[in-house]
Amino acid sequence: MKRNRTGKVTVLAGGVGAARLLRGLVELVPASSLSVIVNTGDDDVFHGLHVCPDIDTILYTLSGLSDPDRGWGIAGDGFHAMDQLAGYGAETWFRLGDRDLATHLFRTEELRTGKTLSQITAAQARALGVSVRVLPMTDVPVRTVIEAPQGRLSFQEYLVRERGRPAVRAIHYEGVRSARPAPGVLKAIGEAGLVVIAPSNPFVSIGPILAVPGVRSAVRRATAPVVAVSPLIGGRPVKGPADRMMRGLGMKPSALALAELYRDLLDALVIDAADRSAIGPLETTGLRVAAVPTLMSTPARSIAVARHVLGIGASVRAALAS
Ligand code: GDP
Ligand code: CA
Repeated sequence: MKRNRTGKVTVLAGGVGAARLLRGLVELVPASSLSVIVNTGDDDVFHGLHVCPDIDTILYTLSGLSDPDRGWGIAGDGFHAMDQLAGYGAETWFRLGDRDLATHLFRTEELRTGKTLSQITAAQARALGVSVRVLPMTDVPVRTVIEAPQGRLSFQEYLVRERGRPAVRAIHYEGVRSARPAPGVLKAIGEAGLVVIAPSNPFVSIGPILAVPGVRSAVRRATAPVVAVSPLIGGRPVKGPADRMMRGLGMKPSALALAELYRDLLDALVIDAADRSAIGPLETTGLRVAAVPTLMSTPARSIAVARHVLGIGASVRAALAS
């Protein structure tokens, strides 16, 4: 049964961690009350096609198409097109499945005819039966660039081609200063009864969203409680380079470091039970904290984490009202 005392819920999202939380939230909040603001800093062009890895992960997960083991692409997809491309000598380190290619073909052609990324994403969500509002953070191209010892790498070169191994000296969001939030983004934050920062990489998933002019201040000013879920379990990410990035940028990977990155935004933080020693130090900074199992390896675990997010949001709201 879906109860909805929270009102509208708006989630800031990267890829897999966010998709796992969303598959829980949709079981507790009506889809029509859920908006997701998705990172587009990972977007890139491959074989002439505009690929949006985080939007696709969210759409494929919410439509039930995703490959749960791989964490990207469509379950059971084939790779005949990639094999053919490799035969032509093309670089194929960024794998795109045959059915997945249709998503990028459609998006690229629609962009060419002048549609915006938010219009196209809304159309793709509708076609896939996703009634959650999926909003790209901006319609303006923003590119996350990693400064590594060997030079500047696009985010996918760093993460996929180089497997996240290069040391990270700095991270840039190219184009972000002239970006504007996509239509509906600021409204979704302002109208929300709860704002959730998903368990996504704070530098390359949430960072670009907050860097779009106006977004960070909208979250800071939001009347709704702001709750983050930590992507770290025992100080380590479930996948990806969040801890190595934290170290590279001079931080000790921990729930405390995460809270510090979001300090001006958060009312509450959901951390993993393995990190419960951080509860005391976090609470002294004025945060409300829940330490619970946050590994969302099954749909049931996703629902459990989503329930904690709604619960702690409600307790912040109750404290504000009293
Ligand atoms: P992606 O690389 O595009 O999938 O972007 P994300 O930033 O969303 O995903 C990577 C982050 O998600 C990592 O920091 C993970 O620790 C986090 N993550 C993935 N699955 C889970 C989970 O089940 N629980 C928690 N707490 N974090 C998760
Ligand atoms: Ca991503």
